[in-house]
Amino acid sequence: MRVLLVEDDEMIGQSLQRALEANGWSVDWVKEGLLAQSALADGGYACVLLDLGLPKLDGTEVLRKARAQGDRTPVLVLTARDGVDDRILGLDIGADDYLIKPYEFRELLARMRAVIRRRDGAAHSIIGSDALGLDLTTREVLVQGERSQLSAREFALLHALLERPGAILSRDQLESRIYGWGEEVSSNAVDVLIHGMRRKLGAEAIRNVRGLGWRIAAASVGV
Ligand code: CA
Repeated sequence: MRVLLVEDDEMIGQSLQRALEANGWSVDWVKEGLLAQSALADGGYACVLLDLGLPKLDGTEVLRKARAQGDRTPVLVLTARDGVDDRILGLDIGADDYLIKPYEFRELLARMRAVIRRRDGAAHSIIGSDALGLDLTTREVLVQGERSQLSAREFALLHALLERPGAILSRDQLESRIYGWGEEVSSNAVDVLIHGMRRKLGAEAIRNVRGLGWRIAAASVGV
């Protein structure tokens, strides 16, 4: 899955990017507010990690404007500001959660999972149906209760499809959910991924809709 990292501190940004990538995330890192705004407008992020003190446009303004435009991407504010007022302001203008620096990386990952899960409307860590579910904590797929591990890209793709069960997602929409900036994406990358996933999920779980894209099969959605 893709995360937008908004952080102007070079050292913090670099170490976060490395740690997140080591945990299977595709990371797009921007260092000022205006770029954060345009990256958010492009969409495709499972989550945003937002520093508040930023050059050009403050993090609170980035968030306020995104929410005013109806952007519902989960936002986790990372801030050195430990003032109660800053925290309240952040939550009031639409942050889903916040962490005060310094924090433990494990806690950051857990909070990212939690805000994404809440946005999916799931109180538990499993989304989808009994026939086809996805465990957001372990990154395993459940096919009729049988668990198997997914790669980071398979996970991102299935998460995108299960988030909107029954909806058809185009190649562009799927690519924007799986690959970060500057990643080399071959023209048949999505086909290759789905081909591999059918071995784990069953041949019929992901249906191709000719010329339009892919969707989860009705039988797997549980409708
Ligand atoms: Ca800063």
